[in-house]
Amino acid sequence: MRSFVAARDYNKPFMPKVYIALGSNVGDREANLRRAVQLIEQYGIVVARPSSLYETEPVGYLDQSWFLNAALEATTDLAADQLLAALRAIESQMGSSKPFRNGPRLIDLDILLYGDAVIDTPTLQVPHPRMLQRNFVLAPLAEIAPQLHHPSWSGTAAELYAKSPDRSVVRKYSSPNKEHPSS
Ligand code: ADP
Ligand code: MG
Repeated sequence: MRSFVAARDYNKPFMPKVYIALGSNVGDREANLRRAVQLIEQYGIVVARPSSLYETEPVGYLDQSWFLNAALEATTDLAADQLLAALRAIESQMGSSKPFRNGPRLIDLDILLYGDAVIDTPTLQVPHPRMLQRNFVLAPLAEIAPQLHHPSWSGTAAELYAKSPDRSVVRKYSSPNKEHPSS
């Protein structure tokens, strides 16, 4: 008998496109971001498109070093809460302690988008609630997915970055390590 639910092929695992933001402003920031990407892949999250690295001015709490930020497009068969748990596990594995919100951290990993999902639980909000107010998220996202348009957004990632209210400085970072240029 034919199913009424024909929209999805249940023989194929559901692999949503997810977007992850990375940030670091403690220690060797570039090495921290690269290590985090390696660990992300070890959790079975398949990185399809990494952004360049961006050097960014702190937002919110200003008395701290500038950050390196990046964004990734990836696919995963992890559910959203499992993906958050994986990112949290990587943060603790790397020894990141976060004294307070927006404060200094060795590594911060946030879920920006999980396919078209809208999630609002006490531990997880997706789309990330502050992402459209942050150049350090919008710049790398607009680079890797300029046409991305979440159903709750008023425009594409590139348009939202162009209209961003955030005045803080974001610039592409060129790695001092020539053998591993930022990419
Ligand atoms: P910050 O907001 O400065 O990144 P943390 O990384 O310490 O702070 O995160 C604080 C909490 O934010 C986490 O415990 C997590 O449960 C929650 N959280 C809610 N939505 C998200 C999301 N989309 N991605 C990552 N963490 C999230
Ligand atoms: Mg975080």
